Amino acid sequence: MTLQVDNETQAKAYVQSVYETVVKRNPNESEFHQAVKEILESLTPVFAKHPKYMQHGILERLVEPERLITFRVPWVDDQGVIRVNRGFRVQFNSAIGPYKGGLRFHPSVNASIIKFLGFEQTFKNSLTGQQIGGGKGGSDFDPKGKSDNEIMRFTQSFMTELNKYIGQDIDVPAGDIGVGAREIGYMFGQYKRIRGAYEAGVLTGKGIIYGGSLARTEATGYGCVYFVNEMLQSQGLSFDGSTVVVSGSGNVAIYSIQKAMQLGAKVVACSDSNGYIYDENGIDLDTVRRLKEVERKRISEYVKEHPHATYHEGCNGIWTIPCDIALPSATQNEIDAEAAKTLVRNGVKAVGEGANMPSTLEAIEIFLEAGVLFGPAKAANAGGVAVSALEMSQNSMRYSWHFHEVDDKLHAIMKNIYRSSVQAAEEYGHPGNLVVGANIAGFIKVADAMIAQGVI
Ligand code: GLU
Repeated sequence: MTLQVDNETQAKAYVQSVYETVVKRNPNESEFHQAVKEILESLTPVFAKHPKYMQHGILERLVEPERLITFRVPWVDDQGVIRVNRGFRVQFNSAIGPYKGGLRFHPSVNASIIKFLGFEQTFKNSLTGQQIGGGKGGSDFDPKGKSDNEIMRFTQSFMTELNKYIGQDIDVPAGDIGVGAREIGYMFGQYKRIRGAYEAGVLTGKGIIYGGSLARTEATGYGCVYFVNEMLQSQGLSFDGSTVVVSGSGNVAIYSIQKAMQLGAKVVACSDSNGYIYDENGIDLDTVRRLKEVERKRISEYVKEHPHATYHEGCNGIWTIPCDIALPSATQNEIDAEAAKTLVRNGVKAVGEGANMPSTLEAIEIFLEAGVLFGPAKAANAGGVAVSALEMSQNSMRYSWHFHEVDDKLHAIMKNIYRSSVQAAEEYGHPGNLVVGANIAGFIKVADAMIAQGVI
């Protein structure tokens, strides 16, 4: 008993000192601090039970990326003006496989954002049960309003530098916000041209005709709904007949909406970075898909075709719409304490994080205290990267699976992530807390691999 108390005190002090070092060593990186804090707090019971992780300095090593690469991305716009953006790639952890993670093109991108994403990716990728390490990258380039030619010139310039650091057994980027099939296509072409080799597994999210995987586009959204479905079923609930709010209207949001609808839900709202639409009859997904995927227009256009629906400027208000299930699928910190309180007051039963870190630490606390079923991003949105790993497997085999084969595997992976998160939460004294469970389950595999591989 006394020993256990001592271990707990020691574990708390250890976690605290590592966190303080992170804050000191990475000043002004609030998103990175936030991601580290969430994980570290969950891990205290693991260190208390297994002091070997402290002795091996696992946390000190985990919070320091193996490598952070930044580079200049010069390009020429349609007016002939030379523009310069900053490119990033963080190679966070390679204990269980080559670095793996998306590229984000968004004006908010900086070292803090890339590091929080790369850090989270390490645990998420571990949870998938596949051999992929953690990485992330991107640029502060804003794709909004750029012509197709500008996008091509920018991505080619970006890859001209990035190609030096990646490879199918080294580091495998994919998409994230602002990077979809079009951008991956241009980057793949440029990589092939520079390297003079058709190395299909160097990027994932490729087009189907040149090495992409069926169901990769749908994977993050479908996976998120599969995960939430597991949570709901554990309480005898289901999507059928429920009212759902999904923020965002990118790849994750669109396919979450589609799967939720297939399971009988009514999805009444979605958004983009300007505002949100509310359609009490249930939104028309075909319109959203055409506007966003084909015409690349703003979501506000939706109400021109569906006049009974309403458009609201600004994004935060979407969380005031009463719903049973909320799937934040836009961006980090989109649900703050106030939004979380409103959702709880309106009777939300489940929250599944489709985006990365969409809830602030305070918001998570509010959901957990209120007994809301809460699927944290690392677990709930792991379906995308899981199918990316399946794409890598297919590329290695020079073979393609059918849609239903990939979808079945995705479904099995999501169920497995749910099960291991539930088990870890129980084993370490936090039954039902999937934040703690997912963090611990993801951590243990990476930590054990690091111990096995020595001090590197
Ligand atoms: N950007 C996605 C994520 O956050 C997918 C990464 C990948 O497929 O490599 O997990």
